[in-house]
Amino acid sequence: MSLGEFDLIARYFNRPTRRAAVGPGDDCAVLAPRAGMQLAVSCDMLVEGRHFLPTVDPARLGHKALAVNLSDLAACGAEPLGCTLALALPRVDADWLEGFSVGLYALAESHGCELVGGDTTAGPLNICITVFGEVPAGGALLRDGARAGDAVWISHAPDGGIGDARLALEAFRGTVALPGEAFERVRRAMEQPQPRVALGVALRGIASAAIDVSDGLLGDLSHLLRRSAVGATLDVDALPRSTELAAQPLVLQRLCGLSGGDDYELVFTAPETAQARVQAAAREAAVAVTCIGRIEAASGLRVVDSQGRALADTWTSFDHFRS
Ligand code: ADP
Ligand code: MG
Repeated sequence: MSLGEFDLIARYFNRPTRRAAVGPGDDCAVLAPRAGMQLAVSCDMLVEGRHFLPTVDPARLGHKALAVNLSDLAACGAEPLGCTLALALPRVDADWLEGFSVGLYALAESHGCELVGGDTTAGPLNICITVFGEVPAGGALLRDGARAGDAVWISHAPDGGIGDARLALEAFRGTVALPGEAFERVRRAMEQPQPRVALGVALRGIASAAIDVSDGLLGDLSHLLRRSAVGATLDVDALPRSTELAAQPLVLQRLCGLSGGDDYELVFTAPETAQARVQAAAREAAVAVTCIGRIEAASGLRVVDSQGRALADTWTSFDHFRS
């Protein structure tokens, strides 16, 4: 690396911190959660070729690398405190580093999530961020609290839905042709997901269970159901869809919505009696929420259409080790 490791860190990843007791530059960062709060910690790795295309704009990549981690905090109802960045770089590319750090810091600052440290090394491009958040003691939203009778909700952009990231991927792969403007819109959903942090916080004490959709709605909801030892029926026709996705053939709409992945929306459950509080939480967080199903005592996930007919096709979640 021509620019030395320490010069690189100093130039791109060393903005002053205000909230952390100790930020980058020492052997450890020191964080200061408020009294009565617990730390929520999550870590996600992004590998070139698997999680992002080599051609992706570095600023969008910086955004996404942090967004997928903030989405985990959101799913737990945690407020971001700080993050660390472990970065393997094949070469020192000043333009790339500038773009990446600008994208990362823009999202970090909008969520009060300070970059407090990390590690930098030469190697195949690999980005690993760990986020630290805080939740009131015992108040984290978990996967295991869903109960029979609860409604199943999903978050989405007011003018969007679930499945756009997968639609963008299909457009990149050339299996779907989209007009330029539509492509730009779904591409933004794929490359710049908005973690639902405010919604997660607003749902504390209201949602009975929550998970974020990273690998596909069916797969991720199934994780929640198993942890809660319940089942559910999902109405595929109730899934919120963007105008771009709604313009596609029904089978593609269902594929993208049910098993698309990379959505970073929250799927959560809440008692029927909490419907008004759920809607109020969504308004407070300036996102939309849609009820897509119901929790049942019988285990398993049943997918039906608006007529109540079971879906014939088999829909599977994206599996990192199979596809
Ligand atoms: P050590 O050898 O003690 O692990 P390093 O030499 O790896 O420390 O890093 C020096 C300092 O720079 C540390 O405070 C570390 O947290 C910070 N740092 C290293 N890489 C990054 C990065 N990519 N982003 C933010 N801070 C970083
Ligand atoms: Mg080190």
